[in-house]
Amino acid sequence: MKGSMEKILRFVEQNDAFSIISHVAPDGDTIGSGTALSRILRRLGKRTENVCCDQVPDAYKFIPGAEEILLPEDARGFDAVIAVDCADKGRLGSAEGIFDRAGVTANIDHHGTNATYADNNMIEETAACAELIYRLGRALGAEIDAETANCLFAALVTDTGSFAYSNVTKDTMAIAGELVALGANNALINRLVYHNEPAGKVKMHAYALERLHLYSEGRIATAMLTESEMDPFGPEAYTEGIVEKLRDIDTVEIAAFLRQKGRDVKVSLRAKKYADVARIAASKNGGGHPRAAGYTEYGITAAEAEKIAVRLAEKELQACWKE
Ligand code: 5GP
Ligand code: MN
Repeated sequence: MKGSMEKILRFVEQNDAFSIISHVAPDGDTIGSGTALSRILRRLGKRTENVCCDQVPDAYKFIPGAEEILLPEDARGFDAVIAVDCADKGRLGSAEGIFDRAGVTANIDHHGTNATYADNNMIEETAACAELIYRLGRALGAEIDAETANCLFAALVTDTGSFAYSNVTKDTMAIAGELVALGANNALINRLVYHNEPAGKVKMHAYALERLHLYSEGRIATAMLTESEMDPFGPEAYTEGIVEKLRDIDTVEIAAFLRQKGRDVKVSLRAKKYADVARIAASKNGGGHPRAAGYTEYGITAAEAEKIAVRLAEKELQACWKE
């Protein structure tokens, strides 16, 4: 662990009101962990608000408390600020000002690339973010009610692909069991997260996947969408899951999904068995985990960004073969 839980416990004890920030383009992990932390702190009599610079995608609105997440301009900005699941300050997006104006800060995260940018850090690469929040809740002696258990369970399910990825440990499974005992509804959460998609999203995926490209004898797969291609189908959040479908191809080790955002291109990377895509992302000032990472290319077209991503993926595969 980088940092320590003890410092976070003291930070919680010493403050009364907290702004909890989730990362840009929020996923289930950052939303479920952030809302659970809010509920835990409120149980202890603290005041909290949850903040995210982007709207919560419809798919995660079922997470208890997700509807209360504020945009930075609507937030109070309390003196104590906690970043959740944010590997670097850039991940706070336009909520960074709230973090910078704070009297005291904390950073609870599970990215190996985390730069421990807060006054109090709790970073554990081998845990899901929700595991860290659960342990913190236990250590604080807060009651974990059924809704909090559902927040944490939704975060665990989304971070682990329903307990299917290599980041799952016996501790993840043990905590999942405890959360079910506390009232988390496994079947309901899985259905809402994975089997409840708007038709536009399915069509957007079909459009992108029909145009996928394979390189390096099928070991690399890419797909991309420009804004004008995405628009008829729905919002950018509908792109979630495309990169995992690319990775599902039997020959693929590295998958890259690229989407245009104005003059920039957001690149999502996934690896299957051995490649370390966090290395690729870090070389582009992005970050993430060995098997799931991302970065942004600035002032570039999607087609140009794809060429670069393929070259970096080829380099990564070559590096793996040498190691
Ligand atoms: P996704 O591709 O789902 O957006 O992100 C996959 C993983 O990579 C997540 O754990 C996320 O935190 C990380 N990630 C994606 N984009 C960036 C980025 O631009 N910077 C950093 N530091 N991490 C990123
Ligand atoms: Mn995460």
